[in-house]
Amino acid sequence: MPRKPENPPDTAAKAAARPLLAWYDRHARVLPWRARKGERADPYAVWLSEIMLQQTTVATVGPYFMRFLARWPDVHALAAAPQEEVMKEWAGLGYYSRARNLHACAKAVSSDHGGKFPQDVEGLSKLPGIGPYTAAAIAAIAFGEPATVVDGNVERVVARLFALRTPLPQVKPDIRAKAATLTPERRAGDFAQAMMDLGATVCTPKNPACNRCPLEHLCEAKAEGIAALLPARAPKKERPVRRGACFWLTRGDQVWLRRRPDKGLLGGMMEVPGSPWDMRAAEGAEPGLDHAPLDADWTRVPGSVEHSFTHFHLVLDVYTAATRRKVVPGGGEWVSLDRLAGEALPTVMRKVAAHAMPDAGPLFAKR
Ligand code: SF4
Repeated sequence: MPRKPENPPDTAAKAAARPLLAWYDRHARVLPWRARKGERADPYAVWLSEIMLQQTTVATVGPYFMRFLARWPDVHALAAAPQEEVMKEWAGLGYYSRARNLHACAKAVSSDHGGKFPQDVEGLSKLPGIGPYTAAAIAAIAFGEPATVVDGNVERVVARLFALRTPLPQVKPDIRAKAATLTPERRAGDFAQAMMDLGATVCTPKNPACNRCPLEHLCEAKAEGIAALLPARAPKKERPVRRGACFWLTRGDQVWLRRRPDKGLLGGMMEVPGSPWDMRAAEGAEPGLDHAPLDADWTRVPGSVEHSFTHFHLVLDVYTAATRRKVVPGGGEWVSLDRLAGEALPTVMRKVAAHAMPDAGPLFAKR
């Protein structure tokens, strides 16, 4: 029978910060946006990275972060950039409303706050695109405020430390409350990052390395032998499948692209013209040439493009044709194929381009 930890949870909570911070001092991940030991965190870098890291992995964010910082080294520079350029640099990171809010936030900080981010959760939460999690992360990491930061990694660590068996997402409020009891008054930013690092490198989803964990002696799930089973999750709902068609129209070495409306999914990004995506595969709907932007000798490319969004899975048929017309009905512009990599094309449209031109090699190698 596994032994229960010696400390009851509340006492254990107070005892967590010390060993965790000592572990962090030795094992902190080196990340491009993170201040090294003894350096002050740059609030602009912290904010930029936290917005990019929402729903996106550290490995994916790294190159985007470096490009943004090289091109717009401070919040005034980003605020002064044309939105179109910001969207182009963001292309491929997904969740594009983040990029629009990022730009709006930079403008607000630049013009209303003299280029300085508010230091507390309340002030930060009033800025565009900054929700409770991001406000807490910036307050703690950039300004040392004792705010409680709970991302997916921290959720897992806390659920295990306290052996919380209720499944996600119902257990979230309980996790938050327990996490708050752990947050120390001093070195709150380091503590937040230490919890994230512990979840990313030691307390991993499938095989937690408890023998390397600085909190092993406090951990209830470890003591009960259920660490790898937590946090429990409610069964996922299947995503509905939607179908659509899109039309890869070329004129010499150019392709016709249009900009999506600012509001809504992929708002403000460029796209290959196509049908609505509201045709349900289950109904056997076959979106076809009815939605083509003009009459042409359209050929369907064998196979289809698939892409998963948060709430649905998309299957796109791709048609190609060539034309000599300078203007295509429905709005848009001709874009040189060799400039495609620099366009604000979301990942699903990059897949469409690669599908339409299977012999063109890696179209988007730059990113
Ligand atoms: Fe996670 Fe194991 Fe550490 Fe508990 S002891 S926090 S399960 S790594």
